[in-house]
Amino acid sequence: MSAKIINGKEIAAQIREELNREVAGMKDKHGIVPGLVTILVGESPASVSYVTGKQKAAHEIGFYSIQDNQPEDITEEDLLKLVDKYNRDPKIHGILVQLPLPRHINEKKVINAIDPDKDVDCFHPINVGRLMIGGDEVKFLPCTPAGIRELIVRSGYETSGAEVVVVGRSNIVGKPIANILLQKGKGANATVTVVHTGTKNLEAHCKRAEILIVAAGVPNLVKPEWIKPGAFVIDVGVNRVGEKKSEKTGRMVPILKGDVDFDAAKEIAGAITPVPGGVGPMTITMLMYNTVQAAKNTLK
Ligand code: NAP
Repeated sequence: MSAKIINGKEIAAQIREELNREVAGMKDKHGIVPGLVTILVGESPASVSYVTGKQKAAHEIGFYSIQDNQPEDITEEDLLKLVDKYNRDPKIHGILVQLPLPRHINEKKVINAIDPDKDVDCFHPINVGRLMIGGDEVKFLPCTPAGIRELIVRSGYETSGAEVVVVGRSNIVGKPIANILLQKGKGANATVTVVHTGTKNLEAHCKRAEILIVAAGVPNLVKPEWIKPGAFVIDVGVNRVGEKKSEKTGRMVPILKGDVDFDAAKEIAGAITPVPGGVGPMTITMLMYNTVQAAKNTLK
């Protein structure tokens, strides 16, 4: 039987509707509107496209939002001053500095300068530490891993006691999703294995997984025969494997593929996320969720 295809666009739209209502309620009850600033340095087309998507989502949900464009040659000192300005701005609850930054700027320094309570990307070491501790300590979850968890939970899959295998140990996907799912509590409590290039028998680990999360950035890394029948497969990978002419615009657009051979895997898995349209739409949505949380936290 063919797997259930998990529609990230639909789940993201559902969360955005919930956020819309929450934002309207916060405005009515407390006179507070979540505020998000996205800081863009330079004009890299990929970064411009990412921040445009974030701003569009922020407007649609009803945030107070600022797009702050800075020239490629802004000094590190001036960028740090800008971050500090937004740290002190009570109308701004979330600060996002679009990465990567130009080489003359130390990214770590900039991330570390963001007030951890406004760090809606959840990259600040304090928030990474809070995630490790878990429970009440957690203010935000990093956006892509948080989106992965929502996809699992909102699709009705039980994480408690599940055998989870995560392929990849990056700081933005692999390590945090492993950490989120091993915490004690709802939507977690799984038995988690993380595999990487140092792992001896990748296939054997993947074959055990009831929930298989693949974030390696290697097209077709996971072979269909590595998938346990009925498993929930989450393909985080986004790989450009060529170009095609867009039917809408007539322009050349990249062909994107995940880390899993989707067509073959869907005949074995119980559920699977497509690329594109699976994890991708969740990331920006969880950034919006975090901004609402940041605004709510100021009411406590
Ligand atoms: P990354 O920083 O390059 O990390 C990749 C991880 O995969 C590393 O831990 C690496 O192991 C492991 N890996 C690579 N090749 C492997 C192999 N042959 N066998 C076993 N492990 C292997 O990548 P990332 O930032 O986590 O991103 C991963 C993918 O997800 C990329 O395609 C990226 O574009 C995509 N992504 C999508 C979203 C979204 O919103 N949809 C968000 C973030 C990332 P080592 O540590 O041993 O090198």
